[in-house]
Amino acid sequence: MLTVKKFVFNPFQLNAYVVYDEKGDALLFDPAVSSPEEMQQLEAFISENNLTPKLLVNTHSHIDHIIGNRKVAERYQLKLAAHRAGQPFLDHAAASAAGFGLPFDGVKEIDIPLDEGDTLTLGNHVLQIFYTPGHADGSLCFYAEPEGFVITGDVLFYQSIGRTDLPTGDYDLLQKSIWQKLFVLPDETTVFPGHGPDTRIGTEKINNPFVAIGIE
Ligand SMILES: [Zn+2]
Ligand SMILES: [Zn+2]
Repeated sequence: MLTVKKFVFNPFQLNAYVVYDEKGDALLFDPAVSSPEEMQQLEAFISENNLTPKLLVNTHSHIDHIIGNRKVAERYQLKLAAHRAGQPFLDHAAASAAGFGLPFDGVKEIDIPLDEGDTLTLGNHVLQIFYTPGHADGSLCFYAEPEGFVITGDVLFYQSIGRTDLPTGDYDLLQKSIWQKLFVLPDETTVFPGHGPDTRIGTEKINNPFVAIGIE
């Protein structure tokens, strides 16, 4: 079994997810803490539940998702897994943080490049990786088929989709990513998005105003 714990961090109301197995091994998805209090919250959960963080993973490299990378990686001696196409965002991260007035202690470089068709393993659990550009180059989704959930970053939200007006954003491409990679998953699959509430694939297929395909 995999358990998913959600945190909401930083002024962008970013959803960070700690995914852990029965042994307590954990993957940290976008643990974008931006204050000592948020870091403490994360640390408290990890120690109270006897978790062992194994890997830091980014859904994509926008500042609201990567701002905590360095601190968290140093605290738990973690490598960072992400898509290399997000590198330009990392190169621009310091300027981006300054623009938003966010404290920033530097970029964590990508140690493990991920791409379509790769997998992440946690004990005997496997998460499939989809490359889903359109919101930002380097956007990945992580699908746990037996557990029936997918972590979508800023690709698909409850009743919405990621912005496409930022650099490398492309509305047609984002729709294609969602239709070809996410809407082919079972309707009951839980969607854990990068912002806002959870949803399900079937709900978004019918109701999402940007990408719904309606009822056949
Ligand atoms: Zn984003
Ligand atoms: Zn975001």
